Amino acid sequence: MSDCLDVKFDVIVIGGGHAGIEAAYAAAKMGSKTLLLTPALDTIASMPCNPSIGGLGKGHIVYEISALGGLMPKLCSKTYLQARLLNTSKGPAVQGLRLQIDKYAYSKEASQALQELENLTIVTSMARELMTEDMHASADDGNNGYKKRVTGVICTDNRKFNAPTVVVTTGTFMRGVVHVGLTRYPAGRRGEPTSIGLSQSIAKAMGVSLGRLKTGTPPRLLRSSIDFSVLDQQDTQQLDYLYEFDSMPVKDTLPCYIAYTNTKTHEIIRKNLDLSALYSGNIKGIGPRYCPSIEDKIGRFPDRDSHHVFVEPEGLDCSEVYPSGLSTSLPFNVQEDYIKSMKGFEKAVITKCGYAIEYDFIQPHNLTHTLETKTVSGLFLAGQLNGTTGYEEAAGQGLIAGVNAHLKHTEQESFVLSRNESYIGVMIDDMVTLGVNEPYRMFTSRAERRLLLRQDNVFLRLMPYGKKLGLIDNKLYEAFLAEKDVIETSKKCVKNSGTKSLLFNLFNSVIFSSEVKHQAKTHLVEVLSRKNMYGHVQVMLSSRALLCIHAHVKYDGYLRKELLEIEKYNRYQELEISENLNFKKMSGLTRELQEKLGHYKPKTIAQAQRIPGMTPAALSILIFQMRKI
Ligand code: FAD
Repeated sequence: MSDCLDVKFDVIVIGGGHAGIEAAYAAAKMGSKTLLLTPALDTIASMPCNPSIGGLGKGHIVYEISALGGLMPKLCSKTYLQARLLNTSKGPAVQGLRLQIDKYAYSKEASQALQELENLTIVTSMARELMTEDMHASADDGNNGYKKRVTGVICTDNRKFNAPTVVVTTGTFMRGVVHVGLTRYPAGRRGEPTSIGLSQSIAKAMGVSLGRLKTGTPPRLLRSSIDFSVLDQQDTQQLDYLYEFDSMPVKDTLPCYIAYTNTKTHEIIRKNLDLSALYSGNIKGIGPRYCPSIEDKIGRFPDRDSHHVFVEPEGLDCSEVYPSGLSTSLPFNVQEDYIKSMKGFEKAVITKCGYAIEYDFIQPHNLTHTLETKTVSGLFLAGQLNGTTGYEEAAGQGLIAGVNAHLKHTEQESFVLSRNESYIGVMIDDMVTLGVNEPYRMFTSRAERRLLLRQDNVFLRLMPYGKKLGLIDNKLYEAFLAEKDVIETSKKCVKNSGTKSLLFNLFNSVIFSSEVKHQAKTHLVEVLSRKNMYGHVQVMLSSRALLCIHAHVKYDGYLRKELLEIEKYNRYQELEISENLNFKKMSGLTRELQEKLGHYKPKTIAQAQRIPGMTPAALSILIFQMRKI
């Protein structure tokens, strides 16, 4: 961190949350003189909800951040408490790595990593207003449609900072209102001040209106007040690779536990629904469908007698635990009653009560694929402010915004990831083309080419970009090139050696046991050395490389079909869809897709392709219909 404060910067990042730290890290690493504005150093990279990173779809984003050289995976390696690979009964494309995190250590590591970064200045202050100036049609930015350009930021303490690019990443803070039962008060997060003025200033500069969304969090419980002996225990899995390219030494970890709600719990919640902020009508913003509150779950699934509650550690030395699945906006006394109705929680002490929060967001269809606003040149938005939910989604956007802020002020070509090569590309494309009507969360089902977007091939897909951007160092890149070479050679070798079926049998279990891994490695190494391919292959054949070769052997036919499909859709991207087409009468389309097509009214195949849930089969029907007309 530089010692002296210079008020002219290349990039200003507002907010040190998960989006903000990636943006600041990327821009500074690429060489931009960067300023990070944060209300406090110790709230950098806070985790106000679940103390975990990754999961289905979300884990893919973290891998991609790793391949591009971002910060989140590095912090995860240093601070994880437990690792699990989810969905292992399914194929490799839809499995997801999830890590429990020591949230206090995470925040500390993030703050330290940023303070050690060259080119980055951290100032503890709240931004209040954007500075902009008008642009004329004939301005030097050409006909990009900009009406204004950003010139800097004014803080609540009246300090002014100038920069040609500003990345705003203020999460749930903009006009945030916390709800506990029928009580409400302004806050950005529990115990932190809300941000007033900035959202209106951004909306005014952009010429757009603001929307409202909501999210919520469960109460925290005193670890020593829980009877863990009656709960199911879930231990860590020994995985040799986490999100980073390098393998991980095994370390001491903490278990999670599973508790269950019961009919008494549900009865207490049901009886008090009119006291919930959500049900009383006090909250107008829409919440995340896939992280529903416990009130929502009881309402939506009236026939269920029980729901899982994962009891997760919040930190190595932390006295609190996080009961995942109990997010709520009921009053404190009701939270206490229903918590105590659960087995193992009879004597539980609530250390922090659960709450819901409502906040401003900006429709992301006002942004381009670089996350720059369409009307204010140099202004980038990333994270929850764009209508997404989750640390990982925020971090993925922060990285793209930070990279593009640097590329913009250095007048270089922008960096955009496509849907066919990354989940980050899928997310941003969904956001900017469709907008959001509820908090957007990543799932593997959102990626129509998910067979190509696996965790095992993430470095092959994206690390060359990370290197080109200057975010991956030479040593790491050399190790990656060596692994790439082994994978390519092995693929060829397996194909030509006549041992495909033998290897196929070895590879035939989706999750490798260490025995299968060992046999497969030994066999492959033998084939490679028989062909005199490598003397040193044993050292370099990582589990990740093995998984990649496995996917190639097992899904070869499907992978080739996927590539042909992509080629076909690329050919028909601009094929127009007639306005008069009656989707309801098109046989072969599911009712859900008929309705979605009627709702979004895509003008081209490219637009239809982006509708959530659109399938290759449905697109083929559309292409067939349009070519017939
Ligand atoms: P944040 O991490 O919120 O960071 C925003 C940063 O901006 C903060 O550091 C803040 O101090 C700073 N800031 C704000 N205003 C200003 C200003 N004017 N000037 C300078 N700095 C400013 N996600 C899930 O996936 N599942 C959940 O169940 C879930 N529940 C949640 C419950 C609650 C109560 C909250 C608050 C969040 C929840 N989240 C959940 C969301 C998750 O926390 C966010 O998605 C994630 O943190 C978003 O990252 P971000 O960088 O966009 O914003």
